[in-house]
Amino acid sequence: MLPFKLIYSDAYYLPIGEHVFPGEKYRRVRERLIQTGVAAAEDFLEPQPASDQDILLVHKPEYVQKLKTGTLSPREEMEMEIPFSKELVDGFWLAAGGSILAARQSLKDRVSISIGGGFHHAYPDHGEGFCMIHDVAVAIRRLQRDDQIRTAMTVDCDVHHGNGTAAIFAGTRTASALLPSASVSTVEHPKAAPPGKMRGAHAGDVFTISLHQHNNYPLWKPPSSIDVDLPDRTNDDDYLAWLDNALSSGLRQFEPDLICYIAGADPYKDDQLGGLSLTIEGLKKRDELVFRVARTRNIPIMVTYAGGYAQNVEDTITIHSNTVVAAKEVFAS
Ligand SMILES: [Zn+2]
Repeated sequence: MLPFKLIYSDAYYLPIGEHVFPGEKYRRVRERLIQTGVAAAEDFLEPQPASDQDILLVHKPEYVQKLKTGTLSPREEMEMEIPFSKELVDGFWLAAGGSILAARQSLKDRVSISIGGGFHHAYPDHGEGFCMIHDVAVAIRRLQRDDQIRTAMTVDCDVHHGNGTAAIFAGTRTASALLPSASVSTVEHPKAAPPGKMRGAHAGDVFTISLHQHNNYPLWKPPSSIDVDLPDRTNDDDYLAWLDNALSSGLRQFEPDLICYIAGADPYKDDQLGGLSLTIEGLKKRDELVFRVARTRNIPIMVTYAGGYAQNVEDTITIHSNTVVAAKEVFAS
């Protein structure tokens, strides 16, 4: 039995038909984890949907009303890039409930993974990029409302910038300043510092970190507390050095009560919507690094899955399953 809980429901399935986003990936990750003996049925907890009040902690009443009544404009539906349906709304409310449960579980067990969620492109007043509701932001605001946490840090490793997250937690920021990048790393880095850029500024109760491919969606990237703009085809070693650097820098500036790790599978070299060059092994090392940092510093960590569009969907399932394997190895004792 795992020393932590996996949050999952068959109803996480996104009913979007033939789509680059594999709506059935969550079920297949669960199957893989059980088939390979990584997890057993009793390791999974079934979430309840978030309440409308929970959703309204992040999203504008007018937007929530449109979703509940199916009255998005054609333009708003197009921007979301997934076909609207009542079932889809239910799926996103459930994903938000799953993230709330994962966040709560992580306070008990040090770590918890929702086999879903990570819809980091949703804004308070609109959805975009396959994201209707920002489940992670809803979870943070709900736990803050319940006085279970005061502060949180998002660590977004999806290949796409966490624009919704940055917009939701913008708070009152100072102007972006270039951070020192070479001197703060705790990883021995044998080569010269990789090309890429780290910028940051922060004020507020939620510190946001995003590592993403610079030349990719979204075109407009509102500032996170730390943004690492990675060049095309960044490889495992350079990616891990930048990640280590960003985590060290973030945790020197800010002490979170909870880390929300958005473990996108799309920095993978064969991803259809990504342009980085990480391998399956490199992505597992990425997960291990984030988990080790959380464990060493005794900060609870909750995980969501976000994107993953590998040419071969089996690779996406492997990358997401490995996140659970990595957590099992790091939190074994
Ligand atoms: Zn993505």
